[in-house]
Amino acid sequence: MTIENIHAQLAAGETTAGKIVESAVAKAEALNETLGAFLQIDREGASRRAVEIEEAGDDDGSGVAGVLRAVPVAVKDNICVRGLQASCGSRILGSYHPPYNATAIERLGAAGAVVVGKTNCDEFAMGSSNENSAFGTVRNPWDTRRVPGGSSGGSAVAVAARIVPVALGSDTGGSVRQPAALCGVVGVKPTYGRVSRYGLIAFGSSLDQIGVFSTNVRDAAVMLGVIAGRDLHDATTADVPVPDYVAGLDGDINGARIGVVREMFGEGLDADVREQVQAAVEAYRELGAEIVEVELPYAKYAIAVYYIIATAEASSNLARYDGVRYGFRAEEAATLQAMYRRTREEGFGAEVKRRIMLGTYVLSSGYYDAYYLKAQQVRSLLREDFRRLFEQCDALLTPTTPTPAFLLGEKMDDPLAMYLNDIFTVTANLAGIPGLSVPCGLSRDGLPIGLQLLGRHWNEATLFRLAHAYEQAHPFTALPGVLAKGAA
Ligand code: GLN
Repeated sequence: MTIENIHAQLAAGETTAGKIVESAVAKAEALNETLGAFLQIDREGASRRAVEIEEAGDDDGSGVAGVLRAVPVAVKDNICVRGLQASCGSRILGSYHPPYNATAIERLGAAGAVVVGKTNCDEFAMGSSNENSAFGTVRNPWDTRRVPGGSSGGSAVAVAARIVPVALGSDTGGSVRQPAALCGVVGVKPTYGRVSRYGLIAFGSSLDQIGVFSTNVRDAAVMLGVIAGRDLHDATTADVPVPDYVAGLDGDINGARIGVVREMFGEGLDADVREQVQAAVEAYRELGAEIVEVELPYAKYAIAVYYIIATAEASSNLARYDGVRYGFRAEEAATLQAMYRRTREEGFGAEVKRRIMLGTYVLSSGYYDAYYLKAQQVRSLLREDFRRLFEQCDALLTPTTPTPAFLLGEKMDDPLAMYLNDIFTVTANLAGIPGLSVPCGLSRDGLPIGLQLLGRHWNEATLFRLAHAYEQAHPFTALPGVLAKGAA
């Protein structure tokens, strides 16, 4: 089920908006016990919207008006959809129902999409396995003993399990690309400033971007084309023209220069991941790309820099959850101070508390210069590294993650091991550049592996074109176990 074949079926009169939406909702409900991808399924709202779409008809008589007409979409629970919950995977926002739509949601709606529900995620998008959600784990449809990745695990699974063709997530350090890789789907983090953050609940404001999941590159290009562009509600969105990403997909990649980053094929890389990503490098060579080996010397500091900057920004962003303005409030507190303290103590989970403490520490007087300022300086050097490489290359190619999906519980007692999952993805957020993960094969155990492409600022189009060429030559047709066994 892709946007293209939904629209072909609509145009041929073989289906209706109502049937498409009903089928997505029914699958979401049927699989939720096994996979836990959704925190809220909006059967009623989605059906109502489908009726509206059917009644509105189409302007041009094709049966399809609006590039996302009747396309069911799943939305991460840290993105505001009017009338639905936005828990962010946290008890502290548990019952919060935002009175407004995020800009990305407004734009999807205007293009004809139908939100079918809100997806599970790590609390405040902090995590790489979805195990930090206050509302239960999400399971990987390829092997339900394994994690789907995080923090946008629910959205990745909703697409991987073919519940919806496309979904929204957010990527602060890899939270779209990493779960996309672990679940065998396409995931895109746009350039910082490409997509409005209005209505995205903040984690690390200088790093956060809304991103998209899909089963193929074309659908990701359609989705980004809809949600991208300047928004007066978010001053960090840039007034840079949004190209027609779909029209650019078929361009020639002959002569494209792809940099293979040596540091990212070093120690700690799983043998199967190495093999599949190397094979993808060869595939690009056969497609006519020129492969150049490059170095990214500051990449080795990226994890340390990211976990200073992201936690500093998080500690500041999360100060607003005090029991007064939103969501949960601890009961039975004798004083105002006690109410604040107990609300935060009971409302936040362990990982969020760890990050608030770390972030507050690196910003505190006396340590600010040693940690936060230093991290910002290294961030500039890393940006400079990328700028230099993009003078010689059109894109960089790396593995998306060091290993395929790991077992539930495997890394929960070791935050550092968990943080290392992001080693190949955080660099893009620190530099503000776009990144895309596309499936490039299976491990010996039958788990998906992703390859990551990184590009120049505002140049998602090149990533789409390169990923599309690869996908055409090496289609990823395997289906996750949950579906292959007919469980759906
Ligand atoms: N896994 C990373 C973290 O825990 C990235 C999270 C994200 O991109 N939202 O911070």
